[in-house]
Amino acid sequence: MLLDNHGRKINYLRLAVTDRCNLRCFYCMPEDGLNWLSRKELMTYEEMLQVCTLLVKMGIEKIRITGGEPFVRKDIMQLLTALSKLDGLKELSLTTNGVLTAPHVAELKAIGVRSVNLSLDTLDANRFFTITRRDEFASVMETMEQLLKHDIEVKINAVVMAGKNTQDIIPLVQLTKELPVSVRFIEEMPFNGEGHSYSGIVWDYVRIFDDIRQSFPDIQKVPDPQFSTSYNYNIPGHKGSVGIIAAYSRTFCGTCNRIRITPQGTLKNCLYDDGVLNIKDLMRLGVYDVKLEETLRAAFNVRERDGWEAERKRLENPNFHESMATIGG
Ligand code: SAM
Repeated sequence: MLLDNHGRKINYLRLAVTDRCNLRCFYCMPEDGLNWLSRKELMTYEEMLQVCTLLVKMGIEKIRITGGEPFVRKDIMQLLTALSKLDGLKELSLTTNGVLTAPHVAELKAIGVRSVNLSLDTLDANRFFTITRRDEFASVMETMEQLLKHDIEVKINAVVMAGKNTQDIIPLVQLTKELPVSVRFIEEMPFNGEGHSYSGIVWDYVRIFDDIRQSFPDIQKVPDPQFSTSYNYNIPGHKGSVGIIAAYSRTFCGTCNRIRITPQGTLKNCLYDDGVLNIKDLMRLGVYDVKLEETLRAAFNVRERDGWEAERKRLENPNFHESMATIGG
């Protein structure tokens, strides 16, 4: 079992396979996109597979592929298929915006993907365009339909943004009445890639819950699974469920079981940290196997206590303008 310096179990890796995305969600990146990484700066699939094999041997049980948008990286199904065969890996999942995903759903099912996180902040096609700056609402809905048709669990991630989509909270909750989907509302985080100062959060998890409870007074708290980042609820008579993720308020750090690897190979112990080391650079210098394992273990031993401590340290770097697309959500 892999433990960090605070005794927390680490068994979940989020691997971002690209920084590129086919949407331009305003809260994630500027309209012109980012300064995209060159191919040389990206980890190759071979490098990803190598480090995942090692991490699974060390105690990682779940891998989530994210980005950027995973499906804009060429041949992503090859990587997913190879990962699905890793001995000891209990769960392989992915987070996608759903724009290019629908044609791959049958294959995802065939390689054993049981759950997919689908990002969708509104059920209104016009607002979808305003938020994402792309006219792709129909393709996302098609992906949701395909996932449900193939009996793959769908978790919808909706970022709640003051003045942008708070009118979508209730329609998204209503979606759970007829569909067996889990809609999870996420507090907006300060990662828009522009380095704008962020003056705190207006719609935090308490306000989101109060808003839902006004329309659904019989909403019930259900037990949260181990390591869950969401507060989970059921509404009597609904096929699906509702969750709230306090990503800005950071209420779940005490049980955090996840690490991240960015597309350029940076290992992050926390969403809010500045990166602890670069795995790709080490591998390209010939650091593998036992030596790499030792280096990784040392990195897990200096994990920040929580996202506040990690953020404090990160903000000491004045040039830090990270986008969620380079972190992996
Ligand atoms: N492209 C994929 C997708 O859209 O699901 C995976 C990457 S995306 C960066 C992962 C998640 O991060 C999405 O659900 C997105 O809404 C969320 N995200 C991006 N920027 C965010 C921010 N500033 N605050 C909260 N969530 C954010």
